[in-house]
Amino acid sequence: MDLLIVGSGFFGLTIAERAAASGRRVTVIDRRHHIGGNAYSEDEPETGIEVHRYGAHLFHTSNPTVWEYVNRFTTFTDYVHRVYTNHKGVVFPLPINLGTINQFFAAAYSPDEARSVIHELAGEFDAKDARNLEEKGIALIGRPLYEAFIRDYTAKQWQTDPRNLPAEVISRLPVRYTYDNRYFNDTWEGLPTDGYTAWIERMADHPLIDVKLSTDFFDDTQPLNKAATVGRVPIVYTGPIDRYFDDAAGALSWRTLDFEQEVMPVGDFQGTPVMNYADADVPFTRIHEFKHFHPERADRHPADKTVIMREFSRFANRDDEPYYPVNTPDDRAGLLAYRELARGEKDVFFGGRLGTYQYLDMHMAIGSALSMWNNQLA
Ligand code: FAD
Ligand code: UDP
Repeated sequence: MDLLIVGSGFFGLTIAERAAASGRRVTVIDRRHHIGGNAYSEDEPETGIEVHRYGAHLFHTSNPTVWEYVNRFTTFTDYVHRVYTNHKGVVFPLPINLGTINQFFAAAYSPDEARSVIHELAGEFDAKDARNLEEKGIALIGRPLYEAFIRDYTAKQWQTDPRNLPAEVISRLPVRYTYDNRYFNDTWEGLPTDGYTAWIERMADHPLIDVKLSTDFFDDTQPLNKAATVGRVPIVYTGPIDRYFDDAAGALSWRTLDFEQEVMPVGDFQGTPVMNYADADVPFTRIHEFKHFHPERADRHPADKTVIMREFSRFANRDDEPYYPVNTPDDRAGLLAYRELARGEKDVFFGGRLGTYQYLDMHMAIGSALSMWNNQLA
């Protein structure tokens, strides 16, 4: 073995694929029973509808290198992501756009009129100097829209005072003074034509790649454990960085999700793939309805059944799957300590969402894996 990769998500698989393509023998271990990390999907058995096991995954990128790379393993549908949100029993389009603003104020503002109304309402903070999510949110859309669509949803999702969350979390969403309600701004967007798992399996399908599932790096009873491998073979580690060091600099805060899946006896439950619930009195953040991600598969989907999944968010305990880095000021201090420890770990390379404690999307995980391969490992 030339390289051990801990974690078979997009980061680990991109490194594995590049290493194997250049003639290196690679072993990938994952503690789950399947490859693909959080992008894994499978068909719901009763309906045959593809379900994204860890929440809806939408591929989008403006990076030509990443787009060329991913197209080696899959084609993409022409799916364009749009999200709606339910506030006080009324449905509004997201991200905040002219349609949202006019519906909220029961108005017919032109783009310039809407800009000046929002400017007036947003005067408390300047977007350039915003120090946290709350200041940035108010600076971008003004307090009334912030309180309706962002404040309580964010509280449900992060369970952290928005003044302790980084401004970048809200900067992920565009604000538009047109009726364009595409959720993403990227050049390329789509869903893998024959599903995420087919894509992921093609990345791992190489005689020089050996995948061992249900294998935990920290389980001393399996031969590829940490004590037996560090210092003996180069390692790419994509699990949580604090866990690697046994929380030596304190546990970082992570958010986990609980999913409640249900097959509904109706052809169409909500008429759209993702409906957010903005208000505090609804305990879940959003409902995914998977058949809407693939309208081109309509003839394969049952006409009288649909699969929905409610998403609940909470802090991760030690035994939960960590999904999102919370990134409070305390976490950022802890992360600096872990980065220092990581620098001292010879021939161990930390990558991916968990290994770098960064809110990475798939294209970012793949892009940073390609850079790590080219710049550090090749
Ligand atoms: P992961 O996919 O998390 O893979 C890490 C792997 O490491 C896991 O399989 C884990 O089991 C394994 N592992 C951890 N510890 C150990 C250990 N001790 N031993 C062995 N294996 C271990 N991105 C988008 O672009 N669009 C989206 O719409 C989108 N939606 C998302 C929704 C949710 C709910 C989540 C959580 C993420 C979403 N993402 C989305 C992000 C996307 O999942 C990640 O960017 C991408 O999967 C990151 O890949 P990764 O390899 O870094 O991590
Ligand atoms: N957000 C919100 N209301 C919404 C949608 C998003 O307040 O209806 C905020 C929330 O803080 C969230 C962030 O915007 O964490 C980023 O949203 P995104 O949909 O990108 O989150 P993800 O899909 O990664 O969970």
